[in-house]
Amino acid sequence: MTDLPARRLLLVHAHPDDESINNGATMARYAAEGARVTLVTCTLGEEGEVIPPELAHLAPDKEDGLGAHRIGELAAAMKELGVADHRFLGGPGRFRDSGMMGVPQNRRPGAFWNTPVDEAAPYLVEVIRSVRPQVLITYDPHGGYGHPDHIQAHRVAMRAADLAAEPAFRRDLGSPHTIAKIYWNRVPRSVAEAGFARLRAANVEFPGVAHIDDIPGVVDDAEITAEIDGAAYTAHKAAAMRAHATQIAVDGPFFALSNDLGQPLFTTEYYQLVRGLPGVPAGRREHDLFAGTVHGTGGTDGPAGTTTQEAV
Ligand SMILES: [Zn+2]
Repeated sequence: MTDLPARRLLLVHAHPDDESINNGATMARYAAEGARVTLVTCTLGEEGEVIPPELAHLAPDKEDGLGAHRIGELAAAMKELGVADHRFLGGPGRFRDSGMMGVPQNRRPGAFWNTPVDEAAPYLVEVIRSVRPQVLITYDPHGGYGHPDHIQAHRVAMRAADLAAEPAFRRDLGSPHTIAKIYWNRVPRSVAEAGFARLRAANVEFPGVAHIDDIPGVVDDAEITAEIDGAAYTAHKAAAMRAHATQIAVDGPFFALSNDLGQPLFTTEYYQLVRGLPGVPAGRREHDLFAGTVHGTGGTDGPAGTTTQEAV
């Protein structure tokens, strides 16, 4: 394990672009600080809509070339964030984008939503046991907003975290590793409301404004346990989002997806700790996701597991 950096962060996302929208500032910050940041993206996002008219031919009902194109967009985005380690679950194209909930693509062979969790999870177990992250970030059980691939990404991430720690499970995938802390992506309701108020007051080009319910992971402020101030990485996050040009149109501190509805671009990113011990006293928010782990900077040494697990 001596070749691994001290702090290791794993993110599990459904499609290329989700990582930059949800965690771009967090990823850029930890990468800049020397942590190992590993992104696992579960599908190529083949079923997305295409914003630029000149790329409309890539659409799934035309050439079906969007997935291959988005591999390049993701690579460009990761360059903007300084993240070198990004992978697709099971390799590029192993699992296909399932489309929105209820569409026929949900049931397509190879669709991520149509894949048993225990068939997909071992691919992630292998990554966990190799990278040995102290911190995992993924979605809540609703996938943030109900997209089948986001729900499935949550299920696979949580299942793989359990299986990776299980000593008897598939030793061919590496030696067991327990992830000290697991976080779900969140946005505090007050922050989302303030962001939309700014958007309505601003003179931006989008044809409409999204609804707060369109923002994944919005919860009452009391649910938030960690906030990562990414102000210093605003430009990196915006550039990474711009790199996903088929999916995102960025306009200053706002952006729109293919529905053309403006929404705020958050540079402070918020999380809810759902497994592991917080690195700060109850009632306070963490400002470092590694706080309380052996290699954290923002708290006392926490869950005893980390060193013993690393010695396995
Ligand atoms: Zn997505």
